[in-house]
Amino acid sequence: MTDLNKSTRRQFLKVGGAALVALPLIGMSGASLAAQNESVRKALQYQTSPKDGKQCSGCQNYQAATKGCTLYPGDTEIAPTGYCSGFIAKK
Ligand code: SF4
Repeated sequence: MTDLNKSTRRQFLKVGGAALVALPLIGMSGASLAAQNESVRKALQYQTSPKDGKQCSGCQNYQAATKGCTLYPGDTEIAPTGYCSGFIAKK
């Protein structure tokens, strides 16, 4: 085997190895990382639509950057247009 072949083979293995490491990360898109806290949603009667003009985007508990809520640990799918009984109007 020539030095050129060894080099090319080495490069191929490096790229292939990096691709194998990256594949699972690619599969974990934003959608698959999202989670819902079903028990809290049920307890606080969460709904995906506003109620009487009140919605998550206008609530002190809403965390827009993470699509979360301080009352829903681990939940990353709180809609800005959602609502629940934990609503506290922003001041
Ligand atoms: S407490 Fe309820 S209304 Fe307020 S952000 Fe959280 S889920 Fe939305």
